[in-house]
Amino acid sequence: MTYDSNNVFAKILRGEIPCNKIYEDEHVLAFKDIRPQAKVHALVIPKGAYLSAQDFGENASVEEIAAMQRTISKLARELGVAETGYRLIANSGAHGHQEVAHYHVHILGGQPMGKMVNLP
Ligand code: AMP
Repeated sequence: MTYDSNNVFAKILRGEIPCNKIYEDEHVLAFKDIRPQAKVHALVIPKGAYLSAQDFGENASVEEIAAMQRTISKLARELGVAETGYRLIANSGAHGHQEVAHYHVHILGGQPMGKMVNLP
């Protein structure tokens, strides 16, 4: 699968559609999920055109990878869930049920998140 620059997060990165932005730097953008699944639900995305967690892990630079992880921890602190705990989700590919084909990490928290996996 190749990266499709018409995906919704690519459009957000180009400013073609709005987002509820909570953080931005050279490598990373973070915004609130439009359909929150928990009291706290943020999305962290790289600015680079990476399809999935697999693509990001294999092809992103060390700087991009570090920026994602630092941002996630920084935002968990700022969103008030660092002490209470939270869940990170990076759905990847078909079996991961990834809906938007631009790598992203969900930060979910503000409440107990229940069991880790709910199979259909
Ligand atoms: P995933 O299943 O991991 O690909 O999740 C995609 C996420 O993107 C879902 O939680 C959607 O609610 C979220 N989403 C889709 N469109 C937007 C948007 N325009 N702004 C913010 N979040 C979005």
